[in-house]
Amino acid sequence: MFPDETAARMNESASTTPIADAVAPPRARRGVPLYTKIFLGLLVGTALGLLANLLLGPTHPAVQWTIANVTRPVGQLFLRLLLMAVIPLVFSALVVGVAEVGDIRRVGRVGLKTFVYTLGISAISVAIGIGLANTVRPGERIDRATAAALQAEFGQQARQVAQAKIETEGKSVLTQVVETLVPVNPVAAVASETPNLLHLMFFALALGVAATLVRADVVAPLLRVLTALYETTAKFIGLVMRVAPYAVACLLFSTTAGFGLDLLRALGWYVLTVLTGLALHMFGVYSLAVALLARYSPLEFFRRLKTVIVTAFSTSSSNATLPTALEVTERNLGVPREITSFVLTVGATANQNGTALFEGVTVLFLAQLAGVDLTLGQQILVAYLAILGGIGTAGIPSGSLPFVAAVLASVGVNPALIAIILGIDRILDMCRTTLNVVGDVTAAAYVARSEGYALRRGPEASDALL
Ligand code: ASP
Repeated sequence: MFPDETAARMNESASTTPIADAVAPPRARRGVPLYTKIFLGLLVGTALGLLANLLLGPTHPAVQWTIANVTRPVGQLFLRLLLMAVIPLVFSALVVGVAEVGDIRRVGRVGLKTFVYTLGISAISVAIGIGLANTVRPGERIDRATAAALQAEFGQQARQVAQAKIETEGKSVLTQVVETLVPVNPVAAVASETPNLLHLMFFALALGVAATLVRADVVAPLLRVLTALYETTAKFIGLVMRVAPYAVACLLFSTTAGFGLDLLRALGWYVLTVLTGLALHMFGVYSLAVALLARYSPLEFFRRLKTVIVTAFSTSSSNATLPTALEVTERNLGVPREITSFVLTVGATANQNGTALFEGVTVLFLAQLAGVDLTLGQQILVAYLAILGGIGTAGIPSGSLPFVAAVLASVGVNPALIAIILGIDRILDMCRTTLNVVGDVTAAAYVARSEGYALRRGPEASDALL
């Protein structure tokens, strides 16, 4: 699926699905693992970006020119190529995945486990975020003059973000759930710059379930076409991933060279609160979940996910990381495709713990800054909305900002205050996206284990080129 050398491993692995067989290239090539190359790209991009920032400054014409004409276009090209492939990938993976499981009761069980796990782990992440924000109280530690200056600087951008609203008035919770999940028109759901992946997934799942009920010889051509679509899309992503090391260097250069380092100092307590929460959740909660629910060594788990981690970190997009996550989870952890294609694709949109945690901290931080003392009831509302935000946020860079603005408005804080964090958002986005994606893999590992699959423990990870 990925560059030929890695796809070759698929041939050697135990997988016997028709999809796996279809992509096996004729021979394997040896080389530096993709992970190492991406990691090098990340280091080089960051180092050059920081150098440019410190020596010339973010507003220097040469730095601005390089970002505008070299690193941003290349980074955007890479991201857009990956995102372009997400809709056919998600659609074909889900229909074929569900049809392959074949047993509707099993699909339902896997769905229910994924749902309960997602809700539980999201609630924990929000509790950590809100707990920390109440303890550290970062909004009371920021210098008022700095806050005003930031608001003036990013006000214009903030006005665009702050237009989103959460339209819940007059609708029962159940109606909201139905509307969030079920599309009226699946084509319309994907016919926009920010497609509604939840709607697409529902449609694909429904089609997959129906396919299991149609006579095998009648449905076979449809499944063959979709399998071919999946493989072709995966192959395309494999080609795009070959340039990932260079693209990642460009993405990191744009972020670090153009970054106002003094922002880090001004927003230090806020950044520290978010990062502490993310670290607790990543290394504490996920380690526990992996050890207790998936019965797998957390250290080994993180080690085998390194390609997923660097891809999520450098792209800031769960959707763009989805193909890598699918590949690595199947190959390195041995989670079967029928589980990954469901849990990871749904999780890329619906299970965003990092985002949920970030949303909770950010709303409380800005409310503290605005001097709005949120009551316990309001904080519970924020937590509830943050969990929903983790489920509904698009898995794209800065996908959660419109949602944060909408939550601010719903607890009586001026949404334009979001301007204060815009300048720092990319760095936080890189970190929370990493959590979002790793969280999906923990869910897949748990579901696979509970469905009776043994996770891979052998020497595979060090062997694999991913
Ligand atoms: N960038 C995040 C993701 O793709 C979403 C967000 O929190 O903005 O998972």
